[in-house]
Amino acid sequence: MCLFCEIIAGNIPSTKVYEDDNILAFKDINPVAPVHIIVVPKVHIESANDITADNSKYVSDIFEKIPEIAKSQGIDSYRIINNCGEDAGQTVKHLHFHIVGGTKLGEKIV
Ligand code: AMP
Ligand code: ZN
Repeated sequence: MCLFCEIIAGNIPSTKVYEDDNILAFKDINPVAPVHIIVVPKVHIESANDITADNSKYVSDIFEKIPEIAKSQGIDSYRIINNCGEDAGQTVKHLHFHIVGGTKLGEKIV
């Protein structure tokens, strides 16, 4: 099982901030900003390259819930980041979206 599947299964602890049948959100263990949340589908999708018509519901579920998750952390302005593949710095090969905020972020994306 991958790291995030282990977290979803409850085998590795995390600080959960939102959970439903399809998605889980938890605090990033190494935050880059005052608010740094990871949101994952509960099914293993390796990366954005593996989103298909059959599993894209998980992605829309995540995006429908992101405003609520951000609000629960006290923010309504934030950056959503997805790293896809080696060159983009994807270290955990389970599709995830970073919600980063709680401070004034730099205007440059990279
Ligand atoms: P990425 O580089 O886009 O693959 O992001 C992976 C993220 O997962 C990094 O920001 C890590 O800090 C975070 N991370 C790694 N292990 C854990 C963990 N056990 N609990 C929470 N976040 C983690
Ligand atoms: Zn996984």
